[in-house]
Amino acid sequence: MTSYTLGVLHGDGIGPEIVPASVTILDAAVDAAGLAPIAWVELPLGASAIAAHGTAVPEETLSALAGLDGWLLGPHDSAAYPEAHKSKLNPSGTIRKHFDLYANIRPAKSFERGNAIVAGTDLVIVRENTQGFYADRSTYAGTGEFMPSPDVAIAMGIITRPAVERIARSAFELAMRRDKRVTIVHKANVLKMTTGMFRDVCREVATDFPEVAVNDFHIDAMTVHLVRRANEFDVIVTENMFGDILSDLAGEIAGSLGIAPSINSSDTHAMAQAAHGSAPDIAGRDLANPIAMILSSAMLLDWLAAKHDDTKLSDAARRVEAGVEAAVSSGISTRDLGGTASTSEFTAAVVAAIRGA
Ligand code: ATP
Repeated sequence: MTSYTLGVLHGDGIGPEIVPASVTILDAAVDAAGLAPIAWVELPLGASAIAAHGTAVPEETLSALAGLDGWLLGPHDSAAYPEAHKSKLNPSGTIRKHFDLYANIRPAKSFERGNAIVAGTDLVIVRENTQGFYADRSTYAGTGEFMPSPDVAIAMGIITRPAVERIARSAFELAMRRDKRVTIVHKANVLKMTTGMFRDVCREVATDFPEVAVNDFHIDAMTVHLVRRANEFDVIVTENMFGDILSDLAGEIAGSLGIAPSINSSDTHAMAQAAHGSAPDIAGRDLANPIAMILSSAMLLDWLAAKHDDTKLSDAARRVEAGVEAAVSSGISTRDLGGTASTSEFTAAVVAAIRGA
């Protein structure tokens, strides 16, 4: 029986609550699907790594990750790091850049009893993850931001044809497995060369997928469409920063940021990471919604299933999703979804649903 080895990086804030919850649930789902137990490898990251190793992402973490089948990354609270560490690329940015995890796939799907602002939302944002208007992602060295004088700050944005081509291909391939509709989001009326190229290259790639219906919107118009009719979209492809902002909006529209999962992947590596941050306002109180991290972990199982052509892994992923849905539809949910369950009570309900399924 094939056994998979996955990394566990707790991170900061609510990370040490939602990541172990996901590990527990994956263990139950993998067992129910008849797979060998996952071998978990815990690795240092974040504030605790700064304390123990002098850096938020130790070299030993990066080299260990390279040899794993994938990993679960908890959120980081880099704004709270000591001054010397704040100016560095944050931990998830460091890992994404190191492994060239170019595709950030962020679904937003509402639950029936899940507090959705737009019921029936079921869309996926495909965010280009390596360049765009996140200045620090686009440089070999340096942060992409500089200040010629104390009163002038300049940031750089980069869009390249190969990076757009590969993310567009990810979006169209995904759309072929879904409802065959792709929306390109840009700001080509102002950022004509950069986001204009993003739109145009996506449209070129679209010609390889004649069955997929394509439209495009400016980023500002897109926020309006999402608030009013998020349930009408299927796959949305966009550059890095637009994708980050839109996916927070879409997550909340679907019910809560706490249910917004994501996976960051290249053709060889994948990292499960909730779309939300470390939520320091509720950290350590057993209040966090673990759904985003749990569903991100299920996405990692699906990515591995496709890579290894292992249907038991996709079976395990479906069991995770069904367990979460069963818990929410039985009325068990955390505060952000309008319920009263703690993180651990919700986790136990999902495990019980998986075991009883
Ligand atoms: P980052 O910049 O790291 O993404 P952020 O500034 O977007 O972080 P978050 O940490 O995502 O902020 O938190 C935004 C709000 O959403 C906070 O009020 C937080 O408590 C809430 N929130 C985020 N994640 C969860 C969760 N899993 N469960 C419940 N509430 C959450």
